[in-house]
Amino acid sequence: MSEQDPRRRIPRTDVLLGDPALREAADRLGPEEVRRSVAAAQEAARRGDVAPEDVLAHAVAGLPASASSLVPVLNASGVVVHTNLGRAPLSAAAQRAVTDAAGYVDVELDLADGRRARRGSGALAALLSAVPSAEGALVVNNGAAALLLATTALAQGREVVVSRGELVEIGDGFRLTDLIASTGARLREIGTTNRTHLADYRDAVGEETGCLLKVHTSNFRVEGFTSAVEVDELVGLGVPVVADLGSGLLHPEPALPMEPDATTALSQGADLVLFSGDKLLGGPQAGIILGRADLVERLRRHPMARALRVDKLTLAALEATLRAGEPPVARALHTDPSALRARTRALATRLGLPEEAVVPHDGRVGGGGAAGHPLPGWALALPEETAPVLRCGRPAVLPRVHGGSCLVDLRCVEPGDDDRLAEAVARALASLDR
Ligand SMILES: *Cc1c(COP(=O)(O)O)cnc(C)c1O
Repeated sequence: MSEQDPRRRIPRTDVLLGDPALREAADRLGPEEVRRSVAAAQEAARRGDVAPEDVLAHAVAGLPASASSLVPVLNASGVVVHTNLGRAPLSAAAQRAVTDAAGYVDVELDLADGRRARRGSGALAALLSAVPSAEGALVVNNGAAALLLATTALAQGREVVVSRGELVEIGDGFRLTDLIASTGARLREIGTTNRTHLADYRDAVGEETGCLLKVHTSNFRVEGFTSAVEVDELVGLGVPVVADLGSGLLHPEPALPMEPDATTALSQGADLVLFSGDKLLGGPQAGIILGRADLVERLRRHPMARALRVDKLTLAALEATLRAGEPPVARALHTDPSALRARTRALATRLGLPEEAVVPHDGRVGGGGAAGHPLPGWALALPEETAPVLRCGRPAVLPRVHGGSCLVDLRCVEPGDDDRLAEAVARALASLDR
């Protein structure tokens, strides 16, 4: 190396690590990330790709945005509750509640008298005021945990009576049948795939029955010669009726007429209803149990309940979801197709694309709710090769690949993100042109 060799001017590692910007980044992201970025910047300078005086800026630019490897994604798929994207996005109110609860909070403390208090009482009160027909409420880790706890507490060593038409697999190979069997309850399957009658339930109920279970077939539909027994017909059989509603509507939703809801199921006489917090309710991952006070208390006192309980962040997000205005899931569900068309046209215009690039596109509820129910709307049709570029860009954008096109559906994109989305699409199209 000669005296003039620019490589001699590459800053040393300890000098770079001492820089205030990188010291702050080490606190935020961890020292490993910072060292990795510094080494990469120095290496780029040695190759001559970066000037020695730009090494620091290059190292700063190469840092990740966050200490978590999870990448925020703009959901342009039109699928409202997208399981692979973490289901429901939290409302602004719920996000703020999570941030506020991140430090020490009075989740289990009465600040007035300094004693221990009922854990998460605010979230439970919010549930009971949202569904006044429920006498009791309990929150566990997810819908599967709610089912696990209910069948264990009510039917361990006894029978759970369930229709063959409702034995669903919820995704990734998990079957409700296996889940229930794992509790030590025996599954008593009745009826057939397409038809189950009240007499089937009546014949099956006996000394050994722990509960009757009604499961909403949330991810498929049986059509044609079908028959099922509704909750109101089951309540006279003298055993607890548990309704696994799956998707978590609290009240009837006119946009999804086939979807069950907690208020209706309780008014029909269900003793317990179970549902997820992060599907149509639009909140955090949780399993919510509502119903008869004595049964809810039995579940709450069961030893297993302690292993399934939720953390303070979930309680905070759930309460805020219930108390604040319409969460993003509900807004996406209720999006007016003509408003969607106008936004999509504006996006096409901005990108210099012809009007024909705006095509009719049905959104979907997705993730365990309203199987097959179309949500009429519009999408921007781009060449299929755009999709992987969009997914790998920053911000990451998830479009729908269908029929040889990359479809960008704005239903689940916050209008405030339209500019970022337009820029991401413009960059992706430009990179394809190159
Ligand atoms: C989604 C779903 C579950 C599982 O809920 P998780 O929150 O994913 O654990 C159970 N039952 C039904 C009917 C569902 O739709």
